[in-house]
Amino acid sequence: MDGEEVAQRSIVDIDEHLCDHCGMCEAMCPFWAIEHTVNGEPVVCVHETDSFPEYIRDIRIDREKIEPYLERVDELCPLNLISIEDGELVINEKSCPCCRQCEDGTDGAILVRPIFIGSITINQDKCPEECKNCLDVCPVDALELHEDGKVYPLDKYCVYCEACLQVCPEPDEALVVKRTSIRHTTVKSGAWNKVLEKLATSSAFDRELRTKRTKKIAEAMKRRSMGGK
Ligand code: SF4
Ligand code: SF4
Repeated sequence: MDGEEVAQRSIVDIDEHLCDHCGMCEAMCPFWAIEHTVNGEPVVCVHETDSFPEYIRDIRIDREKIEPYLERVDELCPLNLISIEDGELVINEKSCPCCRQCEDGTDGAILVRPIFIGSITINQDKCPEECKNCLDVCPVDALELHEDGKVYPLDKYCVYCEACLQVCPEPDEALVVKRTSIRHTTVKSGAWNKVLEKLATSSAFDRELRTKRTKKIAEAMKRRSMGGK
């Protein structure tokens, strides 16, 4: 666009020779943007070994109330996860970060409990003139432009992914994102449960995960690649 600076799409580059296929990235990504396969079969080793919990997605569709919305499913989800199959509304839950846009778009015919709890604050006085980088990258339309030309957060829809923070020229000054809790299944490791309950930010979450490279993961991968269970 002439004269306008727009945030650029980033590139994800995975070196398959360095990847040990632990599946942590797959398990952590709320959009399920990465999928590992072994011998053609999808596999998430950290789930199979119970060394990592799964996000809890609680999405309910009221089949009677949803009728009036079937004709405009294309408008309900910013990630295009809602479609019609055999006349029924279906949601690709695996890739759903539970932003709750569809809940409001259907007046509650779809009910979604969030996976991520947190807070997002924009200090508009600190935003550089004309900057709207965060608007460009938010995957779930959790930010909106007001008539005063400033960007405001829509807390209800935010999944605290921090994509906006990555492109903000004044992170922590103009924009503060905090993820305070995550709804997840229990894990067998008691230590892990404690850690996960205490995790205050997604960066702490990332740090913690990086330290959890267990032998069990490598063993599970080895078993899989040899065709065993
Ligand atoms: S919760 Fe958000 S991402 Fe999930 S289906 Fe609804 S609108 Fe799409
Ligand atoms: S953290 Fe930022 S980019 Fe992510 S959902 Fe919230 S407003 Fe959108």
